[in-house]
Amino acid sequence: MCGIIAYIGPHPALPRIIEGLKRMEYRGYDSAGVALASEGRLWVRKEVGRVSELTRRLGGGPEVGIGLGHTRWATHGGLTQVNAHPHVDASQQIAVVHNGIIENNNILRSQLEADGVAFRSETDTEILPHLIRKHYRGDPVQAVRDAVQHVQGTYGIAVLFAEHPDVLVAVRNGSPLVVGLGRGETVLASDPQAVVAHTRQVVYLQDRELAVITTDGADVQTLAGQVVDSEVEVLDGDYQLASKEGFPHFMLKEIHEQPRSVRRALRGRLQVDDGNAKLGGLNMTPRDLLSVQRVINLGCGTSYHAGMVAAMAVESLARVPARAEIASEFRYRHPIIQREAVFFAFSQSGETADTLGAVSEIQIKGGEVMGVVNVVGSTIARTCGQGVYVHSGPEIAVASTKAFTSQIAAQLVFTLMLARCRNLSLEQGQAVAAALDGIPGKISQYLQEPGPIDAAVELIASARYVLFLGRGFSYPVALEGALKLKEIAYIPCEGYPAGEMKHGPIAMLDDGAPVVFIAPRDSQTEKAISNMMEVKARGARLICVHTQGDDEVAGLADVSLPVPRSTDFASPLLTALPLQLIAYHTGLALQRDVDKPRNLAKSVTVE
Ligand code: GLU
Repeated sequence: MCGIIAYIGPHPALPRIIEGLKRMEYRGYDSAGVALASEGRLWVRKEVGRVSELTRRLGGGPEVGIGLGHTRWATHGGLTQVNAHPHVDASQQIAVVHNGIIENNNILRSQLEADGVAFRSETDTEILPHLIRKHYRGDPVQAVRDAVQHVQGTYGIAVLFAEHPDVLVAVRNGSPLVVGLGRGETVLASDPQAVVAHTRQVVYLQDRELAVITTDGADVQTLAGQVVDSEVEVLDGDYQLASKEGFPHFMLKEIHEQPRSVRRALRGRLQVDDGNAKLGGLNMTPRDLLSVQRVINLGCGTSYHAGMVAAMAVESLARVPARAEIASEFRYRHPIIQREAVFFAFSQSGETADTLGAVSEIQIKGGEVMGVVNVVGSTIARTCGQGVYVHSGPEIAVASTKAFTSQIAAQLVFTLMLARCRNLSLEQGQAVAAALDGIPGKISQYLQEPGPIDAAVELIASARYVLFLGRGFSYPVALEGALKLKEIAYIPCEGYPAGEMKHGPIAMLDDGAPVVFIAPRDSQTEKAISNMMEVKARGARLICVHTQGDDEVAGLADVSLPVPRSTDFASPLLTALPLQLIAYHTGLALQRDVDKPRNLAKSVTVE
């Protein structure tokens, strides 16, 4: 979601800003813009749509070494050129790019309008250049500092002054910003991905910190003006520009990467001979694990579904009460934080604003929270201080696939540790570890022979409504399958616990309506079969994801999608695969932009 890039140095800023914007494209956005300072004036260009659209219309710009750029994911105001960033003050001397939301936007806007300011856009962001102008007495840093004192909400901002082509000012409050310290040049970005082309030496800004950025580096201060001695860190993650490796889309590539990505989530962690596991990022001894009385997994979207699977596994294997919660609900309902509870914050990007908000709430109340994140060094990973990296590698397609299975795999490792120090014997622990160890091979086996996905797509692509059903461990998979289809194909659909179908959604079924049933062979299969009969009796068409060789379920299906046999807790790692493929191929059949679906963002950094 939304990206900020700013450059100051001896080289032309514009191509570097465009390159940074391109590196952040995967995050999802709806418009893009740039501003440069040249000969005491601002040069601003912005467009709705892709960065390529912006570059196509740029027509060259002044060759100056200072400027900033932005990709916008609209929160306040429609997707228009006027609403795209940068926004400028009335005198066109101050340009601002902003990620986040200004919550007291209405009050500030009214006050500025009363002062005679005429707003051009509908954005909350536009108050910033006007407010900074109001406080400007010749000192750019002081003007920004004074202005943001009045601003409530979340923001990462970068400010460019036409009169001061030797400095950029940035402030962070809730939206990530990182400063890259190059040789004679400095880069500011909201995503390390945009910095690594220049340098790997970085300083992460903390909340309520302001950076004065020049060619020599960055002076970081608190908003009160106190100098901060920021730690310079070296980015050591994999920031190569991702390649599709011969696949037509990142989503398909990432689906096919899952044998490797799940293997990475397990590698070096499972101790098959001891029937146990070890997670380097958790500072928990068996004694600490023994005192855990409750596990609560927080997440949004796909990460929430991964948290549901993981919570079920904890209850089933470790017999510790566990549940998953939607982070945006949890954080605002004055949650009860118990000392004996362990919280996990699931977030692929590690930047999800709602999940980060939940982390802060837990920490304020004295709770123990750990990250389950993919992006090394991300805000949630840093804020939690300990946790589990899922190591799925960069996920570029906006709709998550491999990060989902890696989150589950990583948390099954934690579950094994928790269960082993409680109620699993050596033999039982060995069986769980061996089952997990065998999963990457089974994923690969399935992907080589994915079954008649085309037949499922044919039923789904023209459907008015699609119902995804599952019981037990397959219920979160049903939710995830429906979410994926919505995200990629924009088809109305929902996931439901199969037993709950008769209490409502069954009314939606009519002749030929496709129902995707996730029913691997487990303790609930017989109940699932009864629900399949109910569906069939209404004339619906059954697409069944089931265990290979399960002729009873296959015999009921109009389209049968077999996956390799596994234990119940590991089955989501296999049953999710055909659903990812169904979403992908349905999206293609309907000519959707599968890697960058409309309105969605990769890392959701606003509430
Ligand atoms: N709230 C701002 C807008 O709607 C910023 C959105 C963003 O973070 O990209 O323009």
